[in-house]
Amino acid sequence: MGKAEEVLVVGAGPAGLVASIVLAREGFLVTVMEKEAQVGGNPDWHPSAHATPLKGPETWEYIGIDCSPCFRDVSEKCDVFMNQNKLNLSRVPQGLWVCERGSRESSLDSYLFRIALAAGVRFQFGRAFLAEDLQQAPAKTVLATGLTPGMYSFLDKPSSRYAGYHAFSDHPRDDARASIYFGGLGKEYGYTSALNGIWYVLLFSRGELPAENLDYFRGMMEKFEGKHVAGWRQFFGATPKLGPELICRDRFILSGTLAGFIETNLGFGITGALISGKIAALAVTDPKQAQAEFEGFTAGIKQRIAEKKKGQAGIAFQMGKIWFKI
Ligand SMILES: Cc1cc2nc3c(=O)[nH]c(=O)nc-3n(C[C@H](O)[C@H](O)[C@H](O)COP(=O)(O)OP(=O)(O)OC[C@H]3O[C@@H](n4cnc5c(N)ncnc54)[C@H](O)[C@@H]3O)c2cc1C
Repeated sequence: MGKAEEVLVVGAGPAGLVASIVLAREGFLVTVMEKEAQVGGNPDWHPSAHATPLKGPETWEYIGIDCSPCFRDVSEKCDVFMNQNKLNLSRVPQGLWVCERGSRESSLDSYLFRIALAAGVRFQFGRAFLAEDLQQAPAKTVLATGLTPGMYSFLDKPSSRYAGYHAFSDHPRDDARASIYFGGLGKEYGYTSALNGIWYVLLFSRGELPAENLDYFRGMMEKFEGKHVAGWRQFFGATPKLGPELICRDRFILSGTLAGFIETNLGFGITGALISGKIAALAVTDPKQAQAEFEGFTAGIKQRIAEKKKGQAGIAFQMGKIWFKI
């Protein structure tokens, strides 16, 4: 038997972990390079509870990994508010699920990490992939660095700012839920999610918000969620300006949010990361087929970006209409 082919994956988020698991199961010798000291991404952002539009069983089947222990379907426990009025929706279109992110044992990241270790994936923690590594990196290196801005400039890839304020609180362990808030704050909107004893709120804002806007949203959290937000933490990230593009770029394979696989209304990126991890693994052996699958999944995102440019985007909470098919 010949020596197993080696593949480097950069980034131990859901996209990089799914790609590494699929490749290791196919017999590749996989190393994941991760800039943080452990799995779980940026410790300023997590541990947190995230909501995401998802078709659970179909997604597990497509990626070949059963992620059900990490996710809860909250489609019927999700309220949508417009200008402080609760909309009368019987359920969220297309389904909304919650999962935990970060380095705790109960997170999606740790769950996929355990599966990756069992599949034989090797990890190099505390090592950031830098601009100078682009020249030496082996062909077919999978880049899955998510919203972290660095890689966009290394690749000369135009990006948009993904930013806002978030806050965290305790929550009853057995309760899982999510809510979405539109209106009353100009272009800003936000959502809350709760799982595994964590309550999380995110308010999007590309620029700095005046204190009165943050106080207004804090008041809404007290009124509708019964939560006191003691302080807001500002965060910044980056997403591809041009949306989903070619996943094979020079000698590299792009995956997850870096590949533009992120929903354009509320920046939901977990489902896209899982699916594109599988597609990135396919791109190692069959780039043409991988690109075709990528296009199929992301057609709705492209359409939405085009509509937004023409000012025809419609109301933002109709996310079911623009999400991809699975
Ligand atoms: C504050 C915040 C809240 C969010 N809330 C939600 C939500 O509720 N629902 C939802 O669906 N999506 C949400 N998203 C988006 C979602 O987190 C991302 O779309 C998703 O994590 C993308 O997965 P990924 O695997 O592509 O990248 P990530 O999960 O971002 O993982 C990338 C990994 O690469 C590592 N890395 C970065 N640069 C380097 C480098 N140079 N070298 C080595 N390693 C590197 C990072 O440390 C990280 O571990 C949120 C994002 C943020 C920032």
